[in-house]
Amino acid sequence: MDVTPQDAPLLDVRQLSKSFQVGRDRVQALRGVDFTLRTGQILGLAGESGSGKSTLARILAGSSAASGGQFLLEGQDVSAGKLHDGRWFKQRVQMVFQDPTSSLNPRRTVAQTLEVPLRTLGLSAAARQVRIAELLDLVELGGEYASVFPSALSGGQKQRVAVARALAIQPRLIVLDEPTSALDVSVQAKIIQLLLRLRNQLDLSYLFISHDLSLMRNVADETAIMYLGRIVEQAPTAELFARPRHPYTRMLLSAIPVVSAQEAQLRPAHIAVIGEIPSATHLPSGCTFHTRCPYVTLACKRAEPELEVIGPGHAARCIRVHELERSGVMS
Ligand code: ADP
Ligand code: MG
Repeated sequence: MDVTPQDAPLLDVRQLSKSFQVGRDRVQALRGVDFTLRTGQILGLAGESGSGKSTLARILAGSSAASGGQFLLEGQDVSAGKLHDGRWFKQRVQMVFQDPTSSLNPRRTVAQTLEVPLRTLGLSAAARQVRIAELLDLVELGGEYASVFPSALSGGQKQRVAVARALAIQPRLIVLDEPTSALDVSVQAKIIQLLLRLRNQLDLSYLFISHDLSLMRNVADETAIMYLGRIVEQAPTAELFARPRHPYTRMLLSAIPVVSAQEAQLRPAHIAVIGEIPSATHLPSGCTFHTRCPYVTLACKRAEPELEVIGPGHAARCIRVHELERSGVMS
């Protein structure tokens, strides 16, 4: 049965894959990624560098084509790319990148940067000026910033401009790829506060990508953990942090500094970070995490586990998940 666009999730990603040919090697950056994102939701996507997060972001924002699979926006299949240059697509998905310095054109003033998306709406010059003032206000920059060039702005101010540009034509979904990773910690918190306020005020949805799990914990409603091009665990964020079930998630959580005794108590048993993420050109056999997993068995090296539902909204890709839970290793 087809779902009507009203019932469809805002974003429905199905078996998305992407590979790159690099010389003789094939880089498998994404290998069958599935998830849905509802209107108003902040879905977090975490994982070490090289796990495929930015590749996924670029495909969803329409700037790169998938090698396989599809994704639907409000029930419409947009993966063929035919809508990517169109207004319909841009009014649904916009992107904010990690580095605001390279994402803003240094030769354009803030107003000129914000004008680019507004032109696609066919607004008059006067209406564009009004909208630019509104956008600056939304991101808490005064009107005096309109005539300024990026070189005169701080990192945080540049990222505010990048957010304003993404908001210009009122998208429903913003893909945020490490939006605060290039900023000082004190500035990070302010940008996060801004993004959360805008989500509520404008009924936005975010795909929030970060390698920083402590940030994810405070931001995302639901969190997916990626490893070598696949989601290995996904759950409502509070559940994922309270009851991480995949050894990789446990390893990532163990690497977060603990700030209080209470937090230390809540935290599951420590797993040391072993080795580094293998290359996506030479993937390990079976479960791709087996080369770093403290619980590896022979069976883990043979076949890649399916993503299995293990609780309400909670799924993990590990053949030992039940056994480890019963044995108490996971608590
Ligand atoms: P993340 O954002 O999680 O760090 P990326 O999506 O940037 O991960 O990269 C995933 C994998 O794909 C890495 O192995 C990376 O080297 C590779 N990759 C990404 N973009 C390209 C490209 N344009 N050409 C070749 N390999 C790429
Ligand atoms: Mg990245």
